[in-house]
Amino acid sequence: GAEIRAEMVDNLAKKHFPLCMRTLHDSLQRDNHLKHFGRLQYGLFLKVLGLSIEEAIAFWRKSFSRMTDDKFNKEYKYNIRHSYGLEGKRANYAAKSCLQLLTPGSSSDHGCPYRTYSPENLQSTLLSSYSYLGLGSADLPEIMATVKAGHYHVACTRVFELTHASSGVSRGQGIGEGESVTHPNQYAAKSMELQK
Ligand code: SF4
Repeated sequence: GAEIRAEMVDNLAKKHFPLCMRTLHDSLQRDNHLKHFGRLQYGLFLKVLGLSIEEAIAFWRKSFSRMTDDKFNKEYKYNIRHSYGLEGKRANYAAKSCLQLLTPGSSSDHGCPYRTYSPENLQSTLLSSYSYLGLGSADLPEIMATVKAGHYHVACTRVFELTHASSGVSRGQGIGEGESVTHPNQYAAKSMELQK
């Protein structure tokens, strides 16, 4: 994709990220910290979104604002470079799909929030994350019924439709031609494309 700079991430997160990545972004900004798996998952998502290694290091350095340079360089920089395939085995790591994030065992701080959050927490998080994009409390019963039936990615797809209604997306269109969400990067890419 196009080059994305570190200082653009916050704005992109608020407009274009699915709830899994939005909640990771928000806790990182709030706590200036993120646990290992959350870091790995969010980092790979940002890599696929289009952050170069330089911009990724700038983003994480700024987010971990309470950490010394020494600690950052010793404990975190290597891991970021590693996830870009620049250290160790030099593997080309893929960002995790919804199926992987929905696998039981993903804990609440890094799995799919539609599955891991309590109903109360999910509803308040949806409203605080997306009400300014058009999601209202009247939309919640339908979303929660879908979640209760275990159709987490369908709930996520419905949220995509509701938060992109102003771009002309209507019920049943999903992320395009009726397709439902299968990957966080697919959700974000489609959202960014609609804004163009
Ligand atoms: Fe993220 Fe997929 Fe869950 Fe949506 S369905 S919140 S994209 S893991």
